[in-house]
Amino acid sequence: MSPPDYQSLFADLHGAVRLSVPLAPMMHLRIGGPADCFVEPVGEQDVALVVRACREHNLPMHMLGGGSNILCADAGIRGVVMHLGNLNRTNREDNRVTVGAGVTLPSLLRATKEAGLAGLEKLTGVPAVVGGAVAMNAGTRDGETFEHLVSLTVVEPDGRLGVRAREDMSPRYRDGCLEGAIVVQATFELEPDSPEAIFERFSASLDARNKSQPVTQRSVGCVWQNPEGDTAGRLLEASGCKKMSVNGVQVSDKHANYFINDNAGTAADFVALMAQVRSRVHEQSGVELEPEVKFWGFPERSS
Ligand SMILES: Cc1cc2nc3c(=O)[nH]c(=O)nc-3n(C[C@H](O)[C@H](O)[C@H](O)COP(=O)(O)OP(=O)(O)OC[C@H]3O[C@@H](n4cnc5c(N)ncnc54)[C@H](O)[C@@H]3O)c2cc1C
Repeated sequence: MSPPDYQSLFADLHGAVRLSVPLAPMMHLRIGGPADCFVEPVGEQDVALVVRACREHNLPMHMLGGGSNILCADAGIRGVVMHLGNLNRTNREDNRVTVGAGVTLPSLLRATKEAGLAGLEKLTGVPAVVGGAVAMNAGTRDGETFEHLVSLTVVEPDGRLGVRAREDMSPRYRDGCLEGAIVVQATFELEPDSPEAIFERFSASLDARNKSQPVTQRSVGCVWQNPEGDTAGRLLEASGCKKMSVNGVQVSDKHANYFINDNAGTAADFVALMAQVRSRVHEQSGVELEPEVKFWGFPERSS
């Protein structure tokens, strides 16, 4: 089957449409082949247009946030990858902050701290954008994204723009359960506090994170979800997985739930290492670890 003519397909789109775009530089892990087509819509209606066009032409579509939780296949991604970096506005009304899906968490945390609005500093150190943080219900031991969420503006899988209230959503651990919807904007309700107090909590979390996690290295954060009543990091360490490696990908010496790309690693190395440690943990503890990382371009995997 010949590839679609993406430029004609997205002729009415406000925003960039590029072909054969390398994805590795956009991934925190720096792994992954090219996307057939990479689109960066300017506004919400443009996001809806892309969704409708992909649906109509039966084209696979992937949403890219900050790329901090994705393992992208070496062969790349067929179809369309959409990035919402242009949806980058932040508006405040009293204690409510409405923010575009493309805003990075570090810049949102800075803005809310300066405005004396507390809550989101619980997400200190998560290298996400708002859309990705909501989709994953990103969190730390202090709390998670949905705790402060009031509503989302989304593009539904059929291409309609809509609003979802928090009470109508059922997020789980590291899963916003969006059922195919695309986040274009999120509204958070925060609590007034002094910027100094917020900054102190922020700094304390950052210090703790720097001590225990390899934050300066190429990773996807935690590869595995924490099983009920335990942590994946503890199980991996107890099973002797630290420093196991496959070619350029190694289990971190600092935190066993982080796999590090030494810059020569591939997606194939990453999944091979996942299989090895999963089987070792199962042999030693009986626990079947479940991935937290999202797989792109691996037809045999569903996430
Ligand atoms: C050093 C490091 C530390 C980390 N620490 C933490 C941590 O403490 N806690 C934690 O929870 N996670 C952590 N992570 C993992 C990661 O940051 C989170 O999962 C984060 O929520 C991913 O956000 P992102 O914007 O990078 O999304 P991406 O990785 O780009 O995407 C993640 C998923 O969200 C989907 N998505 C992205 N944007 C949208 C959108 N607008 N609408 C719908 N779906 C969308 C993607 O399709 C994909 O399925 C860490 C990662 C790294 C590299």
